[in-house]
Amino acid sequence: MNINQINKKALQYKQDMVAFLRDMVAIPSTSQNEKDVVLRVKEEMEKCGFDEVIIDGFGNILGRIGTGSTVIAMDAHLDTVDVGNPDLWEVDPFKGDYRDGVIYGRGASDQEAGMASMVYAGKIIKELGLEEDYTLYVVGSVMEEDCDGLCWQYLLKEDVIKPDVVVITEPTNLGIYRGHRGRMEMRVKTVGLSCHASAPERGENAIYKMTPIIMEIERLNERLKDDPFLGKGTIAVTQIFFKSPSQNAVADECVIQLDRRLTAGETKESAVEELEEIFKKTGVDAQVEILQYSEKTYTGLLYPTEKYYPTWVFPEESEVVQKAKKTFETLFNTPASIDKWTFSTNGIATAGMFGIPTVGFGPANEIYAHSPKDQCPDDHLVKAAAFYAAFPHFYITD
Ligand SMILES: [Zn+2]
Repeated sequence: MNINQINKKALQYKQDMVAFLRDMVAIPSTSQNEKDVVLRVKEEMEKCGFDEVIIDGFGNILGRIGTGSTVIAMDAHLDTVDVGNPDLWEVDPFKGDYRDGVIYGRGASDQEAGMASMVYAGKIIKELGLEEDYTLYVVGSVMEEDCDGLCWQYLLKEDVIKPDVVVITEPTNLGIYRGHRGRMEMRVKTVGLSCHASAPERGENAIYKMTPIIMEIERLNERLKDDPFLGKGTIAVTQIFFKSPSQNAVADECVIQLDRRLTAGETKESAVEELEEIFKKTGVDAQVEILQYSEKTYTGLLYPTEKYYPTWVFPEESEVVQKAKKTFETLFNTPASIDKWTFSTNGIATAGMFGIPTVGFGPANEIYAHSPKDQCPDDHLVKAAAFYAAFPHFYITD
């Protein structure tokens, strides 16, 4: 495999990738509304010579190259978050502004840039005849922003593909990322007995029952596990709800919403157990529930799941990380930086739920994700395309 040729081809296609990314940015594609951007990606995959392009029942698009024995998947989610306050934007979020070598607009960093580079990596593989004993799937997944990993639960549970390795192309600023914290959404409920508020002793106030639980949750946050790489687990009460017959009645139900970030070694089971211990310690009869995500994809499919997004991390010495590092260092002749994401990605399914070796490498800097400064430098597109074109070779070679 000729490294120089790959780098040269990637540079040659810089303006094609820029144009493709600007097109994707210009197509609004919030979660559940990805159809138009998916069709735009289909057009580009076909133009770039993929062997097969399919759209699955969930609405994910998959471009295949080759039929070899090692199955390599690369993933970019095609949905974006909404614009937020339009007054905070200095550019039109849906124009794909391109100035001084930087593409601006919603989805530029998170993460349509990854898709632009992947599709052109496919073209480079085809044109340079880099195909070996591997099957490459370039995946444009959907609904990630609303429920990360669900698109990949579908791909893996429904046997759409069975990859041996997955590259997540969320923004890493061209670093090699090997994991991130997990998270879950839970609610705790206490039930009381309503009565007239003029004689509260006749009833049982569900809000008072919740109070010691909230105080213990605040203390729990202080003692949650820390991890030198991923950081600390956290828990926070983010919302509180009640039910009461009137303003002059004692509340008969209280519910709190919890945001739980999970570090290495923390699981759904351990997180629920900690809360049950608090119920025991405070002597309050309360229930904990993990919330469900149940929204239709743009194809109309309902594929409900728990809002549990497991932590994943691969050691720096692991094969998948080392092979990504080797790809980077051979291509660019400079040391790779190895890090983690602050946010969550589809890796929670591929690695966290299914244990498939997963690694991150993507154009753009994650600090611009979801912000009105959403942007990607054009030279990142070039480097990422070269990386994606070369990675399959380094992955299957010892
Ligand atoms: Zn993202």
